Amino acid sequence: MNGIRRIVILGGGSAGWMSAAAFATGLRGVAIELVESEEIGIIGVGEATFPSIRQFNDILGIDEADFLAATRGSYKLGIQFRDWKQRGEHYFHTFGDFGHLDGPMALWGQLRRLQVAPQTPLGEFCLPTVMASQGRFCRPADGDQGLASRYTYAYHFDATLYAAFLRRLAEGRGARRTEGRVVGVERHEDGRVRALRLADGREVEGDLFIDCSGLASLLIGQTLEQRFVDYSHWLPVDRAWAVPTERAPGGLAPFTRSTALEAGWAWRIPLQDRTGNGHVFSSRYIDEGRAREQLLAQLDAPPLAEPRLLRFRTGHRERFWVKNVVAIGLAAGFLEPLESTAIFMVHNALGRLIPLLGEADHAEGAVGFNVQQLRQFQRIRDFIILHYALSERRDSEFWRALTSMALPESLDYKLHAWRETGTLHVYDNEAFDTTSWLAIHAGMGHWPRRRSPWLDEMPAELAGRYLAERHQAIAALATHMPEHDSYLRSRMQAL
Ligand SMILES: Cc1cc2nc3c(=O)[nH]c(=O)nc-3n(C[C@H](O)[C@H](O)[C@H](O)COP(=O)(O)OP(=O)(O)OC[C@H]3O[C@@H](n4cnc5c(N)ncnc54)[C@H](O)[C@@H]3O)c2cc1C
Repeated sequence: MNGIRRIVILGGGSAGWMSAAAFATGLRGVAIELVESEEIGIIGVGEATFPSIRQFNDILGIDEADFLAATRGSYKLGIQFRDWKQRGEHYFHTFGDFGHLDGPMALWGQLRRLQVAPQTPLGEFCLPTVMASQGRFCRPADGDQGLASRYTYAYHFDATLYAAFLRRLAEGRGARRTEGRVVGVERHEDGRVRALRLADGREVEGDLFIDCSGLASLLIGQTLEQRFVDYSHWLPVDRAWAVPTERAPGGLAPFTRSTALEAGWAWRIPLQDRTGNGHVFSSRYIDEGRAREQLLAQLDAPPLAEPRLLRFRTGHRERFWVKNVVAIGLAAGFLEPLESTAIFMVHNALGRLIPLLGEADHAEGAVGFNVQQLRQFQRIRDFIILHYALSERRDSEFWRALTSMALPESLDYKLHAWRETGTLHVYDNEAFDTTSWLAIHAGMGHWPRRRSPWLDEMPAELAGRYLAERHQAIAALATHMPEHDSYLRSRMQAL
């Protein structure tokens, strides 16, 4: 492994144990040691994920039913956004598809041309959106079986149990855990990190150090002094109250819910036996006490603990791989958790990093890694800002500020391309594909100004049939699917 005999991971949150599990699985002949401090603990939120976590789990050889049982997890078909456009309105960000997106067959375009929308919203032409609205879940069919196989899904899980699950897996594959608080960092003459110094005087030496120390950003931030690129002028949320509640009566929703509030938004994440709740807010626009009250006021079941306050800053380090340190997880940066992207960014970074470790020139690898990580932060940042920028809410100072701010140029261009030409422009390193962008535009009622002449190439009668057939097929498929609860139970019983 090209001069790397020993990798030291600092931190045992989701990022640390995901890294340990991935290295222990993917690297041969390298010793993996993870240092963490129980006294400091982990952030312990981060319960909603993105579909590619399934590939990560598959690469690690994790069985889905084992994983859901160990993490008290559930299935996720997307995110429901409530009160984001206007109070009382909601829409769904799907992990499915909306058929053709371009040319005369563009489903959304024909829907608008024939004026079927808004009576029949675009979501009714997307199978997982309909499944979610009915509380149903079924894994997509194998192979290409049309609509029934053209969607994907993610999970909700208990973040603390996930870290524990991965710890067992990583230790089973040879990774070593060292308990201890890091109080110092020893350097080589050229500035590379040589060892972590623990409070009891022990030293943990390594060739490569993975900084998974969370918001402390101990190695990349504090030791190597990488500048923090602050996004708070675009994403001003900086606090969250988090509280678990008993499971709400009724069926288990197969989706995350985000409800826009006065100065932020509240999440609701259904797990097998409890619900994760939180209120992400900006302390510039609301005080902590009022934000706490707003969270408690919208719970739908009794709390299981006192609400916990978390403080953070949106943004990221200027570089992520510097000398022999690579930052992953919160140590690298954080964007607000609106689209459940933090854990996604962890496994995505690992997927990029592991092949580079085998290459001859690590300096070159680091340059590419840094550019790609930076782009990814910027793309996700733009997608999150989109939710605020398109809102029609003006009922608080927070919403007035967020709907009138100057946007990043990259997002401005995308909005322009959509509005003027109906094009869903794609940059490199996009985490969210055109379907995701369309789901937000459609949900917010943000459509191109003019109708594309392409659409008239399809005879209106044919277009009408095309829409009606898909609508009926989706309704018929959804009705035969099991409810989320019973599907999940059947998966657990198979164990
Ligand atoms: C409000 C909120 C909601 C979130 N929701 C989601 C979500 O829905 N989906 C999602 O994907 N992500 C979410 N996240 C992000 C998610 O929680 C984190 O990305 C993820 O858990 C990874 O955290 P981490 O491992 O980087 O950091 P942490 O969990 O904070 O772990 C840091 C580790 O470093 C160790 N450490 C730190 N300093 C020292 C030291 N001096 N010595 C020894 N050990 C040390 C700690 O003990 C700990 O083990 C959310 C985050 C927040 C703040």
